[in-house]
Amino acid sequence: EAITVQELAKRMGERGADLVKALFKMGTPVTITETIDQDTAELLITEFGHRINRVSESDVDIQAETDVDAEDTLKVRPPVVTIMGHVDHGKTSLLDAIRGASVVSGEAGGITQHMGAYQVSLPDKSKVTFLDTPGHEAFTEMRARGANVTDIVVLVVAADDGLKPQTIEAINHTKAAGVPMIVAINKIDKPDAKPQKVREELLQHEIIVEDMGGDVQDVEVSALKKTNLDKLLEAITLQAEILELKANPDRAAEGAVVEAKLDKGRGPLATVLIQRGTLRVGDVIVVGAASGKVRAMIDDHGRQVKEAGPSFPVEVLGLGAVPSAGDQLTVVENEARAREVAAYRQGVLDKKRTTSAPVSLENMFADRASTTIEFPLVIKADVQGSVEAIVSAVNKISTDEIRVRVLQSGVGAITESDVTLAASTGAPIIGFNVRPNAKAREAAQRNKVEFRYYDVIYHLTDWVRGAMAGELGPEI
Ligand code: GDP
Repeated sequence: EAITVQELAKRMGERGADLVKALFKMGTPVTITETIDQDTAELLITEFGHRINRVSESDVDIQAETDVDAEDTLKVRPPVVTIMGHVDHGKTSLLDAIRGASVVSGEAGGITQHMGAYQVSLPDKSKVTFLDTPGHEAFTEMRARGANVTDIVVLVVAADDGLKPQTIEAINHTKAAGVPMIVAINKIDKPDAKPQKVREELLQHEIIVEDMGGDVQDVEVSALKKTNLDKLLEAITLQAEILELKANPDRAAEGAVVEAKLDKGRGPLATVLIQRGTLRVGDVIVVGAASGKVRAMIDDHGRQVKEAGPSFPVEVLGLGAVPSAGDQLTVVENEARAREVAAYRQGVLDKKRTTSAPVSLENMFADRASTTIEFPLVIKADVQGSVEAIVSAVNKISTDEIRVRVLQSGVGAITESDVTLAASTGAPIIGFNVRPNAKAREAAQRNKVEFRYYDVIYHLTDWVRGAMAGELGPEI
């Protein structure tokens, strides 16, 4: 899992000397013939504005800008939506109601087996993909594995019950992911429904709905009476338009596993959400540490399909083993290569299992109960790739005594809502190639929130490291 600086430079198409210089600044003084570990390599690659394609150890495909699909290859893709909220607030009912409505509106096939994700067609023929794994555990689990598949979160809050612990958890998870949210105020058919109270409670968590002058869409619905489902779908479509969700369908497929199981008759089954490219029957694939050849694909209506494009969920048959949710699917040239990559990933997995516990809700609660000090941060950057690189880099700085907690991260200028969120916890706001807008600056002055601006990741991480050390006080 180590690579020489020389080799890395060659693959990146950069001068070795420039890499050595950058490494020196990162506090890793090495010569060109020495090796660096994968984490350092990744940081460096991101630093130089390249994209990493973690395919295998022997071939960490580092593709320069070329691996980012050219603008003119991008086509609009359906949004991928996850529904979250407190237990019994109606997540399942809402999913069923939306799906039922869509089926009734003339789609062939009808509801079939549960497969973890499905698509609904809207009257204008556009589509929305729902992940049928409600709950922030699945959401966080997937994210922990690097699969950021959700474009939009629908937060369900029962109007007769208001914000509950899991609602607040869901809000935090969504914020941490930098995913936009739509609030579905459910059960408005109930006589004791108090939708306005829900809006007010949301304010305390810096969720300002449109009705209250903010920019978070809210829709009053009843999953039971099927009221305003069309309005909720409209809100999703609108949010999707704002996000300008696009992907290149004309390339080898990449996707993420949403759910997987072993079927007695058919062997390992994985529901995969295609993220870019098109997956076809016959493609040789690696999914996590499993490999195989796509024998058949089944859509959410139980129909066999020959190909699946971006945002399309399909059940894939033909894998040699059962992968895990969040695993990445990659198409490779041939089966020998597939086995090689799968074996490498298995090695990485075994190592991870022994070194770190998986992220689960229980762990998170346990963490909170312990005496670890938290160092909160809000991070904004100019592009999503930087956001992810920074969040991952700062998270790595955490120690047993003090851990980084990214309250919010996202793409774009620093806004007033970033400031309110930061002010509530005394967090500084880091802008990577972005600045605050006027309102945010005013709010920061009022609330004494600190801004830090960077354009080089390791300068940023250096500062965080220093600030965290300051927080802990002198070494005992
Ligand atoms: P989940 O735990 O969030 O998935 O919640 P469920 O969908 O299982 O719903 C919990 C309970 O609330 C069930 O008894 C539903 O019938 C009921 N419920 C869900 N939506 C509505 C609604 O819009 N109105 C009313 N009155 N009850 C609802």
